[in-house]
Amino acid sequence: MALKALDIYKMLPKKNCKECGFPTCLTFAMKLAAGKADADSCPYLDDATKQLLHGATRPPIQLVKLGVGERQVPVGDEIVLFRHEKAFFHPPGIFFSVSDLWGRERIVAAAARVMEEVFPRVGESLRFSGLAIRNESGKADTFGKAVAAVEEEAEFPEVLVSSSADAMAAGLACCGNYHPVIHAATRENHGEFAALAKRYGCPLVVRAGDLAELAGLAKTCSDLGVRTMILDPAPADLGQFIARSTAIRRKAVERTEPDLGHPVYLDATAFLPEEAAIVTGILKYAGVIVTSVLPPGTARMALTLRQNIYTDPQKPIQMTPGLYRVGEPGPDSPVLATVNFSLTYFTLLGYLEASRIPCHLLVIDTEGFSVLTAVAAGKFSERLVKDSLDRFQVAGQVKHRTLVIPGYAAPLSGRIEEVTGWKVLVGPRDAADIGEFLEKEWVAKGSPAS
Ligand code: SF4
Repeated sequence: MALKALDIYKMLPKKNCKECGFPTCLTFAMKLAAGKADADSCPYLDDATKQLLHGATRPPIQLVKLGVGERQVPVGDEIVLFRHEKAFFHPPGIFFSVSDLWGRERIVAAAARVMEEVFPRVGESLRFSGLAIRNESGKADTFGKAVAAVEEEAEFPEVLVSSSADAMAAGLACCGNYHPVIHAATRENHGEFAALAKRYGCPLVVRAGDLAELAGLAKTCSDLGVRTMILDPAPADLGQFIARSTAIRRKAVERTEPDLGHPVYLDATAFLPEEAAIVTGILKYAGVIVTSVLPPGTARMALTLRQNIYTDPQKPIQMTPGLYRVGEPGPDSPVLATVNFSLTYFTLLGYLEASRIPCHLLVIDTEGFSVLTAVAAGKFSERLVKDSLDRFQVAGQVKHRTLVIPGYAAPLSGRIEEVTGWKVLVGPRDAADIGEFLEKEWVAKGSPAS
């Protein structure tokens, strides 16, 4: 069971000596309970207490790093069963499945797509994680060649899928140093697979349909020296996946079965419709999801859903404050102020681009609040507008001194004029009306600078 800060505090020597890097023993206990400190930092704890604290304060689900380098995907390290309790932190890796029976050209094309395809959305670049290469030929040399073909294109994580230790060894000979995921160790082959995972330092998927057997297999592989593992609960249908994946998450988070404290694997290609399997995997705790090479619509759906689920529900998605150019604005172009709530920014940006009127967009740091909330909470104030105008040197970009503010910020217009010295134009409340507004107030009347 997880220990509370007070329980941990009772075990500490209470010297308040700061040697652990925290100002008091109580602070250390609180950080330890939150998983943000290491029991080893206090030199006065005996080994038995340290061991107890390690067991009770380590993340309930192990952090597993898939692959290496820039496109490494960290999964696991989750702490809650429900997203609203805190947040889900590490989005699942989504891997396109290719077969070693495909010709080289088709495999390379799939690899190139994973390398190049990017979906920009609310300020983030959404991408697929890598390829899962299946040993459908059953032959080691064919598998090795398929992995080598991917390696020529790939700078992304891979999953090697085979039940043959010989084929797995042939695949790992090509890419073992890049720490691909090995799928899968079973009751029958776990000795050889664990040895391969240990030799190359790769995450090992262990697969069993019974949770007690799965936990036992994970423990055995851990005892054999495998450092990172992923659990494949071998579901026969999606209902079974939900039941098993939820049970694994619950037991791990409640620390009733520490050997189930690993991310979960889902092969979505095994189920129809595959879209339902992908959605289920994203919503129900999968850390690794293998899909077919998805058509663009499904691909966008999967990445959008993953992004939405893995944002912090207590923290709005924010834009970096600054002065943004829409089109090719000049010194006569309008300056519009808005908040840094991403949804507001991108909605407004869409309508501004559609209007084809180039402008400067001043994004103010309202801590991610929308206009209405920011005005009500005092996060969009005349002082903040002035600071933003100064900080981003807006006056240097235009000849005029006229600022368009959002319609919902109308009550602040007088105070903004007073504090900034800029003339204020109150824009529409609805971003959809911004094109018409600028056409009428700026284009038809002429820029105040001209
Ligand atoms: Fe307390 Fe140990 Fe930290 Fe000293 S090092 S302040 S005794 S927790």
